Amino acid sequence: MIVLGNSESWPGIGTAAEHLQNGAHGLDALVPGLSLVEAETKVRSVGYGGWPNLLGDMEFDASVMDGTTRDYGAVAGVPMTLEVTRLAKAVLDNLPHTMLVGEGARRYADELGLAKDPFLLEHSKKVWWRKLEAVMTLEQKAAFPNTDLAPLTKAITDPEKVRDTTVFLCKDSHNNICTATSTSGWAWKYPGRVGDSPIPGAGFYADSRYGAAACTHTGEMTMRCGTARTVVLALRLGISLDDALRLAITELQELESGYIGGVVIHALDAMGKHRVVNVGCDEEIVYWVWTAEQGTPEKRRAVLAEDLLSGKVEALS
Ligand code: ASP
Repeated sequence: MIVLGNSESWPGIGTAAEHLQNGAHGLDALVPGLSLVEAETKVRSVGYGGWPNLLGDMEFDASVMDGTTRDYGAVAGVPMTLEVTRLAKAVLDNLPHTMLVGEGARRYADELGLAKDPFLLEHSKKVWWRKLEAVMTLEQKAAFPNTDLAPLTKAITDPEKVRDTTVFLCKDSHNNICTATSTSGWAWKYPGRVGDSPIPGAGFYADSRYGAAACTHTGEMTMRCGTARTVVLALRLGISLDDALRLAITELQELESGYIGGVVIHALDAMGKHRVVNVGCDEEIVYWVWTAEQGTPEKRRAVLAEDLLSGKVEALS
């Protein structure tokens, strides 16, 4: 058994591990873990602590995937809803669909009795407005919000500080491999922007026969490359986890135009071996891992893509 979580997963990884130890199905372990991350205000990228879009509204994306059935549930651009991972799980469990967006997703949250709340912390609101104010002309400010937002998106984006996601991957005691993701996306994003966290094959993918991958940071790139699917398909073709990651890194690095930023790929193979790779993020990337043998979750450092590509990284045992 293993649970792998990104840097922001610390409030929930212990709970996810406990559920796995009690024999829970992977998704029944990951969803309660992610709910704790969503509720933690110190996590500034997901749920309560997240940042709003250009209009000052929170919009959340989330997903869950069961690698045994290859079925998933996802929600995107959901307003007023903290527990979006629970909502995504309900889409998987109860609907004949795989994804709901915006108002439709919120309507389903009402049917499930999930709390409705703007979830914008006073501090986030102040930072949101201060930053917006700094890039607006006097005319734009007087007209706001009835002004074109597109020019502001370009001016304001500072990806290293305003993005992140929580991703969890696990292999449970029945060998199900699952993923779950949750995010408020880029801060100051254009309203309606959807990232990779609810997009299968981009921000997440799981197949219990081969492994799983989930990504954080620049969703615009993993959506163009289908990064999570590349990793899992390569595993299916009999390629090792590190070589599967080398292929996914190469595809990301081949992108030359459009928005280019950092990506972090978290990956597991069917044996429960894992690797987390920092592809072009300036800051040091850490992640959390728990295994049954290890007992408590440990924080570790991701390897650099360059080191993996040049063979500097010790092989997985
Ligand atoms: N990948 C997320 C998105 O593009 C954000 C992040 O993880 O930083 O919405």
